Amino acid sequence: MAVLPIQITGNPVLHSPALAVTAFDASLRTLVADMFETMAAAPGVGLAAPQVDVPLRLFVYNWTDDDDELWRGVAINPELWISPTPTGEADEEAESEGCLSIPGERFPLIRSELAILRAVDLEQRPFEIQASGWLARIFQHEYDHLDGILYADRLAHKHGKEAVKSIRKAGWGEPGQSWLPGTDHLED
Ligand code: ZN
Repeated sequence: MAVLPIQITGNPVLHSPALAVTAFDASLRTLVADMFETMAAAPGVGLAAPQVDVPLRLFVYNWTDDDDELWRGVAINPELWISPTPTGEADEEAESEGCLSIPGERFPLIRSELAILRAVDLEQRPFEIQASGWLARIFQHEYDHLDGILYADRLAHKHGKEAVKSIRKAGWGEPGQSWLPGTDHLED
């Protein structure tokens, strides 16, 4: 297993739709194992394949809810149903979201409260998870990555402008930049 470099915003792979997984082979198994290791090293609660420079429709997640229940798995070729997205102002404290491809930044974003994830696992077994709250947010965030959408693309005007500024100030937003969890520390 290996920790993989995480692509930083500006790399085309993060801004293009990913392709369906068709080969459920040893290399897919290795990719998923490496993605779990990379997510743990980052650390993060989710990681999508385009973030490690692989334009395929899969993501991993690892999150413990308020009842100490662990939600951990891989979603391959997922579909996502979401409840209507509320309107209004996002709450800075409760709704601030981050992304390993925009490391160290957080901005508030309103997400749908409910999400139903349907996907297959490495054995091509279909599964379904009915998620609410933060887990629903994680699924929406990771699913977006597979369509080439970053959470920064969805921010309301004010926060969107702040994000553009931060990204420019960090020297990101151009191709060819990545960071390696466990080696590079960009959170400071
Ligand atoms: Zn992300």
